[in-house]
Amino acid sequence: MAILAKGGCRCDVNPVRYEYSATPAEVHYCLCTDCTDTCGGALALIAVVERSAFKITAGEDKIRNFDTKPTCHRRFCKDCGCHMFLYVDAFPDHLLIHIPTLDRDAEVGAQPDRWVFVNSKHPMLTIPEDGLPRHPGWANSGDPVQAA
Ligand SMILES: [Zn+2]
Ligand SMILES: [Zn+2]
Repeated sequence: MAILAKGGCRCDVNPVRYEYSATPAEVHYCLCTDCTDTCGGALALIAVVERSAFKITAGEDKIRNFDTKPTCHRRFCKDCGCHMFLYVDAFPDHLLIHIPTLDRDAEVGAQPDRWVFVNSKHPMLTIPEDGLPRHPGWANSGDPVQAA
């Protein structure tokens, strides 16, 4: 399925803009402390996208990096602080996109299939009874993306 999902940072002037043009390998909810503490949110909604289908279309000079682990490289805008996506060494062919930084009318291309790192859940968050599998740490969805 051909899709084109576009997103970016929160800057009004010269925003970072990115897009991807392939159906994500998977979408999941992440409750790890790296994601939640970096975003200031109780959960992260992640699309795993092939790097070859992803490109930055504007504002690349504003992107900075913060490693929450030596193997986990998080990209954010230096002006507005928006954390848009990250690269994980264990997934050399994919990157992980924070879905809320997509435009709200963007076609993400897949639905969440599981919760991961539920052992790291913030105590004020209640996971909804959505019937999706809940994994204590990282877990594969059975697709080409391998476990860290
Ligand atoms: Zn920005
Ligand atoms: Zn995470």
